[in-house]
Amino acid sequence: MAGVRVLARDLAFDTPYGVSENWKLLEFDASITAQGKTQQALCMYSHGNPRDHIDHSCHRRSFWVLMEAGVSHVIACSTIGAVNKAIQPGDMVINADIIEMTQTPYSLLPGRQRFDCSGKQIVCPHCAGILANTARKIWPAACRVHGIEQGLVAAHTYGPRLTTPAEAMAFRGMGADIVNHSIAPEATLSREIGACFVPCAFVTAGFNDYMDRSRGQLLQDDILPSLSMLASRVALLTAAKIQTERPCGCAELKSPQPMERYTIY
Ligand SMILES: [Zn+2]
Repeated sequence: MAGVRVLARDLAFDTPYGVSENWKLLEFDASITAQGKTQQALCMYSHGNPRDHIDHSCHRRSFWVLMEAGVSHVIACSTIGAVNKAIQPGDMVINADIIEMTQTPYSLLPGRQRFDCSGKQIVCPHCAGILANTARKIWPAACRVHGIEQGLVAAHTYGPRLTTPAEAMAFRGMGADIVNHSIAPEATLSREIGACFVPCAFVTAGFNDYMDRSRGQLLQDDILPSLSMLASRVALLTAAKIQTERPCGCAELKSPQPMERYTIY
């Protein structure tokens, strides 16, 4: 994309939890950033990290890298399934809340009592507004961009297996509108490192796709190729437009606790 350069590929970083691989370093030209200054971003594909086997603990390693780099904003790109019949394949959804029954098992907090991490405002409203405005300018007119003001809820599952019809019904019964494999550890760990978090996700399977037991395939193949490049463009343009000032208050939702909380036990 014009104004964005890949400075490095295949970067690897040592962390206390093992090596974290498959990183890119991006640079945004001063001409396209909100600050009018050159800006950098780290980029990694968590579904492919490591490349040769499934390891959900990759999130702890990757957020340790982001924490050490001093990252203040995280955009998580993914595709999603809809369990709300009004949300259609091709729609973009910026959900306001998340259901993850186990929370993340891969916390980065130094001990149980040192910090309180709020579950409120788990998606940054400021970043969500920038992302929605950006998406609405370039997303296909036939599809909708559901903004954070709609209060939609994402259920998290780790995958890689796709959601069963029974699970889709269960998530719907719990109040979820969409199902995402790439949202809860990202959102929780963003809170734990004091960063703002926003998802950039679009629907590749609708409710009827989950429920149709006569068809083994879930995803609607034609949607992914046509929208994935556009979604990446939305994410990059949003990253360039996010200000370093943070009017949202997300950083204060991780609060240090008094010393007696964690020293007397
Ligand atoms: Zn924020």
